[in-house]
Amino acid sequence: MSATLLEGAPIAEQIKADVKAAIAEMGRTPKLAAILATDNKGAQFYAQSQGKACEEVGIDFELCELPADASQCAIEDKIAALNADPAVTGIILLMPVPEGVDGRALQRCIDPRKDVDGVHPANLGAVVQGSTTLAPCTAQAVFALAKASGVPLFDAPMDAAGKGLEVCVVGHSEIVGKPSALLLLDKFCTVTVCHIGTQDLKAHTTRADLLVVAVGKAGLIKGEHIKPGAVVIDVGINRVKTEDGKSKIVGDVVFDEAVEVASQITPVPGGVGTVTTAMLLKNIIDAARLQA
Ligand code: NAP
Repeated sequence: MSATLLEGAPIAEQIKADVKAAIAEMGRTPKLAAILATDNKGAQFYAQSQGKACEEVGIDFELCELPADASQCAIEDKIAALNADPAVTGIILLMPVPEGVDGRALQRCIDPRKDVDGVHPANLGAVVQGSTTLAPCTAQAVFALAKASGVPLFDAPMDAAGKGLEVCVVGHSEIVGKPSALLLLDKFCTVTVCHIGTQDLKAHTTRADLLVVAVGKAGLIKGEHIKPGAVVIDVGINRVKTEDGKSKIVGDVVFDEAVEVASQITPVPGGVGTVTTAMLLKNIIDAARLQA
């Protein structure tokens, strides 16, 4: 078997078109403010790509740089100023925060209606109630890719002939694994969530018709972990060394093995990440509507 690629681009392009149309209809330009208080290269790169994505659809972007040793108070003051600024539609706090600073406490300071990363407890809580408005972007991306794959997702209990999907989510982080599991649970999937304490990972993953992997460990999921014909959504992003001494980005799934077993698989890069960026733009529009 050779799996079909479940690419992020078609979904992302549709979201971006919807965002552009929404901005034209709103008649005002939304603005994203990203707070960066770190020298971390990954966070700096992520901030740059957010800026580019905003520019592409006509959303203003402001990078609010603070020193890498900024205090809790200084970052809280910045968040308070952005909360109070009517020109700012969305706020993102880039991770990591400086050592000794409580990142969770900072996330709670963001006005939930401007929390376009979906990290405020109010927005994470709304996911439990089945809401995707300001849900974490990556979880929304996983959900959109699952939908695009055509796996059966039900809005109401299925009739006797229907059968809820068997799903396995590997990784239970607050912004990826847990909310992805909840969004799928809401569609009458039977969701198993695996984590570092899971005794027999393969026993769970091989039962899944939809396998979502969000760990951050290259090579964790091999062909033998996948049920033949399953849909695989690989969230992981790992930089690995290649034989010629260079490096490349791979997911958590051994792609060459997985394509021989799965029916569909997201590429890395070009899968979940592409849709996640677009979901951030969608969240900015949702935030603008909430604030209107
Ligand atoms: P995270 O907060 O580090 O969470 C990783 C999760 O994996 C944790 O729940 C951890 O469990 C679990 N885990 C660790 N080792 C495991 C193992 N051997 N078996 C099963 N579970 C294991 O990371 P994250 O933010 O969720 O991100 C996960 C990956 O997705 C990373 O590679 C990240 O770069 C990538 N990511 C991609 C996107 C995108 O748009 N494509 C967006 C966000 C993140 P414990 O907590 O119990 O240790």
